[in-house]
Amino acid sequence: MERVSADQPVSIPLIPFSAKDRPSTDIINTCVHCGLCLSSCPTYRETGLEMSSPRGRIYLMKAVDEGRIGLESEVFQEQMSQCLNCRACEAVCPSGVQYGAILEASRAQIEQARAAGKIPARPGVPSEVPDNPALPPRPLWQRALRGAVFGGLFKHMGLFRAFTGSMVLYQKSGAQWIARKSGILKLLGLAETETMLPALSGKMIAPRGQIFPAEGQRRYSVALVTGCIMSTAFAEVHEATIRVLQKNGVEVILPPGQGCCGALHTHGGDLDGGRELARINIAAFEGLGVDAIIINAAGCGGTLKEYGHLLHDDPAWHERAVAFSKKVRDIHEFLAGIELNRAALGRLEISVTYQEPCHLAHAQRISAQPRALLKAIPGLELREMHESALCCGSAGIYNVTQPEMAARLGARKVTNALATGAAVIATGNPGCALQLAGELRRRGKDVQVRYIVELLDESYRRGPAPAA
Ligand code: SF4
Ligand code: SF4
Repeated sequence: MERVSADQPVSIPLIPFSAKDRPSTDIINTCVHCGLCLSSCPTYRETGLEMSSPRGRIYLMKAVDEGRIGLESEVFQEQMSQCLNCRACEAVCPSGVQYGAILEASRAQIEQARAAGKIPARPGVPSEVPDNPALPPRPLWQRALRGAVFGGLFKHMGLFRAFTGSMVLYQKSGAQWIARKSGILKLLGLAETETMLPALSGKMIAPRGQIFPAEGQRRYSVALVTGCIMSTAFAEVHEATIRVLQKNGVEVILPPGQGCCGALHTHGGDLDGGRELARINIAAFEGLGVDAIIINAAGCGGTLKEYGHLLHDDPAWHERAVAFSKKVRDIHEFLAGIELNRAALGRLEISVTYQEPCHLAHAQRISAQPRALLKAIPGLELREMHESALCCGSAGIYNVTQPEMAARLGARKVTNALATGAAVIATGNPGCALQLAGELRRRGKDVQVRYIVELLDESYRRGPAPAA
């Protein structure tokens, strides 16, 4: 038997991309390394490191693709995690690199390798996967959060609503006050995350096939995606959305059987979880004969419009997914595309700055429409902020997985917003709304964060001033 001496280097095979959900070599090779995307990348802007830029990350993907490094590379894993998936790089890339697709596939590769116990470790570091030398385990609370998000919570809306109900109780019973004062949240490493929890009213919207008739003559019929967080923590935004659509002669249907869009899953490397949810939603919205499927959350909209890509390998669902995605319209896109009922808008004498959700501005390239709607409100003064389209650091569960970078970007965004002196920061995505409100609370600033549809709703509810 051959003896191996202790100081003889042992060659550990690199872990390659596996066939399932492999990042496309063609897309990776579309990058010509011109660097034109660097200045649009929030993590590059914050760190100045090539490695933390889109080009640097594509280099890392290419290195795994060509077998020069493996999935176990700490740099690779860290950079795939540190990326916000904001897709600002994709929007400015002259070569048309579909960055979001290769990032999500790379994350899926990491999660598959972790789940299969393949990722080997640095010596002496405990394994996350039993019986397998591996990377340091993720902190307990991160594992609990990932388990909740990618496990059952977001897949069963009944469970999700029950969970939200327990959070309402936590806030209203005084348990939140005790938890904050006692220091237990700090001890559990949850103090920062907990500040993001919005004040919950307890109002929830469960889609059961309700039909809200158009006001006046019916011009369109649409179906509303109620989602998970939007239907629980932001139910009032859904109510505002419905009223604004009705005011514009639009009938609104809330189809039963729908659920979470799967954005958190697809962005976080659980592509199969995202597919499961996509199939549920496609089935729920099929055959309604509506003019459009409306979504009022930017992150969800980006995902709903890409169901065709998500299910491209599924012959039974691909065509149905493409047909679904074709009908999806972001609320701002829809309202700006029809003749807006301007005559019924009332005056709102407020100053507003607009922070662009990444998945609206970059993933869906919707930038002018939200501004056009704000400008349509009589009396409203729109004050543009510096770096409106630079990610605020929310990015799904990013402020839990990358709290330091999330805090830096949140602070940067709020500083830019406050510099305008506006009384309201308008946005169109729950993650952004929570991130901005959390940072404003930390600074003790009395600036409101509102959805654009809420402002439109308020304007409609005031109604036009009576003629003199
Ligand atoms: S992603 Fe696009 S913009 Fe960025 S370096 Fe590659 S080709 Fe250039
Ligand atoms: S998705 Fe955003 S954070 Fe990630 S590389 Fe592109 S610009 Fe940078």
